[in-house]
Amino acid sequence: MPTRRTKRGTERTPLGGEYDVLVCGASFAGLAVARELAGARTSSGPARVLVLDRYEVGERQTSACAAPSEWLTVLGAERSIRQTFDSLVIHTPHTAVRFRMPWKFSTFDYPALCEDLDAQNDAGFDVATVTGRVSALGGDVVTVQTDRGEVTAPLVVDALGWRRVLGGSGYQPPDAPLSRGLEVHPSGSSGEIEMWIDRAVVPAGYGWSFPAGDEIRVGVGSFDPRFHVKKPTVDLAERLDREVVRYQGNWIPHRLRAAAEDDVFFVGDSAGHCLPLSAEGIRPAFYFGIALGRELRRVLEGRSSRDTALRRYGSFSARHSWHFETLLKGQRLLPRVPPRLLSVALRAMESERFTGWAFDHYLKMAHPSFAAEPGRPLARPAEHALAA
Ligand SMILES: Cc1cc2nc3c(=O)[nH]c(=O)nc-3n(C[C@H](O)[C@H](O)[C@H](O)COP(=O)(O)OP(=O)(O)OC[C@H]3O[C@@H](n4cnc5c(N)ncnc54)[C@H](O)[C@@H]3O)c2cc1C
Repeated sequence: MPTRRTKRGTERTPLGGEYDVLVCGASFAGLAVARELAGARTSSGPARVLVLDRYEVGERQTSACAAPSEWLTVLGAERSIRQTFDSLVIHTPHTAVRFRMPWKFSTFDYPALCEDLDAQNDAGFDVATVTGRVSALGGDVVTVQTDRGEVTAPLVVDALGWRRVLGGSGYQPPDAPLSRGLEVHPSGSSGEIEMWIDRAVVPAGYGWSFPAGDEIRVGVGSFDPRFHVKKPTVDLAERLDREVVRYQGNWIPHRLRAAAEDDVFFVGDSAGHCLPLSAEGIRPAFYFGIALGRELRRVLEGRSSRDTALRRYGSFSARHSWHFETLLKGQRLLPRVPPRLLSVALRAMESERFTGWAFDHYLKMAHPSFAAEPGRPLARPAEHALAA
């Protein structure tokens, strides 16, 4: 855990000013947006971009930090990789299956990844807690309230996670489409990335063990927000003979929300860009963050207006809703499948041919080539029109 560098008390000086773009949140989504704006210019010179977060960049790890390896490479963050896997072991009460993936998955170091992404933008950064929006709807600029003062920009991004602080209708857990996730980070090592789909671990959801070099991230996610995951997490760690130390958890959204609303752009968990069923949110946060960054750049360069950007980015995100809806159906179905049937089904899917097909389709939902080659249409050209 890095030492706290966030300023406190009298060290917190007032913050204010006007910017061209204000990015609230400096984790996966916010840093992807800022990175895409590097070098952007307006008619009066270099774009003034400010990134805000309540913590220093990379200070607070927000997930088990596993993502397709190629995403980490195309984003220039391979230094952060701790361990790479080409297969995934899934345990059920009646069997264990190994899926050989057609692409690799890596666990990474959160501070290193954030540092590497942050080094690729030329935005300013400040530590401040965003508390809400103070300007009326429909104005040319949006004024954001922070604990250090008000900051104004015509282009404001909420990459603040599931709370969607700058949005209208807030989620109130547990009465919201959110899953629960909690993990511990004991020291140790293993060569396998493993998951447990087992009602004895969690009635609706799954448990995981993600090795990351000299530590293992052992956790449990529940699709049912009312089901507490502390005991299941402790039980799984103890069953694996791992120490129950260094907790880390959060709510995980499992429904897509409007990505453009009331003059503000939402990205990552704040827009519900976390894939249901797998609860994979890092890759979509990168993907939608890049799409949003490209759209904002068009506005800065005078090739688009804010209203057009809101409309285009909002519909880009919405066009992906069928992915999210399909996975949500899977998330709802999974706990209802009788365990023996689940084991038979998983064994039937173990063939390399099927696994290759299924994992390739899954990756296409937010493919890393979107970052590497702007403008190149992927499997569904309409979805990638923004890149042009
Ligand atoms: C236990 C657990 C394990 C997970 N494991 C994985 C995994 O292995 N792979 C994967 O793909 N996904 C995983 N996820 C999901 C993933 O963590 C999220 O989908 C992802 O973090 C979303 O990124 P984001 O940038 O949108 O939001 P976040 O990562 O939540 O970042 C939000 C940022 O906003 C800042 N912030 C919040 N509120 C304020 C405020 N009021 N003012 C200022 N700053 C603020 C925060 O400090 C933070 O930096 C996991 C989730 C959990 C809970």
